[in-house]
Amino acid sequence: MKYRIKGGLLVIPGAGGTVQATKGDILIGNDRIEAVGDIGFQHHHAEDIAVIDAQGCAVIPGLINAHCHAGMSLLRSYADDMRLQPWLEEAIWPVEAVMTPDDIYWGTLLSGLEMLKGGVTTFADMYFAMEDVANATVEIGMKAVLSLGLIGIGPNAAEDLLATKAFFDTWHQGADDRIHVQLGPHAPYTCPPEYLREVVTLAKELGAGIHVHIAETEDEVDGVGQTYGRTPVEYLDDLGVFDTPPVLGAHCVYVTNQDQAILADRQVGVAHCPQSNQKLGAGIAPIPAMRALDIPVGLGTDGAASTGRLDLWAEMRAASYVQKVIDRDPEQLKAKEMLYMATRGGALALGLDDTGALVPGFRADLAIVDLSAAHLTPCHDPIALLAYAAGPSDVRDVMVDGEWVVRDCHLTTLDENKILRRCREQSKTLMQRVRGE
Ligand SMILES: [Zn+2]
Repeated sequence: MKYRIKGGLLVIPGAGGTVQATKGDILIGNDRIEAVGDIGFQHHHAEDIAVIDAQGCAVIPGLINAHCHAGMSLLRSYADDMRLQPWLEEAIWPVEAVMTPDDIYWGTLLSGLEMLKGGVTTFADMYFAMEDVANATVEIGMKAVLSLGLIGIGPNAAEDLLATKAFFDTWHQGADDRIHVQLGPHAPYTCPPEYLREVVTLAKELGAGIHVHIAETEDEVDGVGQTYGRTPVEYLDDLGVFDTPPVLGAHCVYVTNQDQAILADRQVGVAHCPQSNQKLGAGIAPIPAMRALDIPVGLGTDGAASTGRLDLWAEMRAASYVQKVIDRDPEQLKAKEMLYMATRGGALALGLDDTGALVPGFRADLAIVDLSAAHLTPCHDPIALLAYAAGPSDVRDVMVDGEWVVRDCHLTTLDENKILRRCREQSKTLMQRVRGE
């Protein structure tokens, strides 16, 4: 099927890691963008092209959530206002110990529903029961870079390495290349050196990328420093974790100048999760410095149990505003940089070369954002409006690989109400299991 998306304000690449807006049309053929801007008169009246009116709308690349734990959305509002270690050890891990693949399947559909309707087309995920995550992702019509979380100090460490290999063999570049698989060593503080060596050996054997939490809190930096005499970045680099690109580092809050030089040299992508980091009181990653070193930086929500919402619009604002406060400088992380990080920056951090920009030849992943709401009126500067005033409810239509997955604010692929009903039930039975009932 071919589509001509007509008369929208197109958000296209700008200079130096930014975006710009221009009025025009987009021609979509199969799963690719064929033309952008002036698409040529021969396409204006062709009978085999469906015309979609985007007057009064912005057309943006599909947003990329660069770090998520989609299956955790069943734990939204379960445990908040706690430090990371007690939150994990006392609240989250005991629930995860009794979670079933079914819980994770439905939790992922719930996350997918929220993300797709908010304009997110691709997410990077680390969790368990990843076959179920992959199935849910494909069924709802999204794309994902998936990794089974590997806890080297956990009881399933060896078994999960074998499961990761099987998952990679089955799913990597599967579902018409909508699913990519990476290896997911959870973090420096949960993966000792001998385990990370095994992970690196497997990554090299498979040619797989890696997704890992790095330097999220000061406690982690202190712990790794006391045990290994290194920063978390140095520790991972010494063990070869950055040797098999693409490597995605979530958080990277506490990174020294030397760490940043390593990340730049190894082209490690960074998933900046400003809302998760703020809510945890963890700190904020030095994003302007890392961008200045050409480190690919995207935006991530982390799990809904950490952040509350899987909302890339809120992450754009959080990232920009907190940086302006830290530097006492309103010129830091401008609107045009935030939209870049939420789209192309995220794609590059995930190693998706042909994704995240409205450019001919790229994958046709996009969202049409209705600019008619009160909070988007008037429109002096569409880029500022999108970064600082728009939200998930303004997203009207979403396309993934040339197919409509949201039309007129409704999911086309699955029954939204069924997902919501089932997830309420699923979370009730999960809590009964936690209480041993
Ligand atoms: Zn995380």
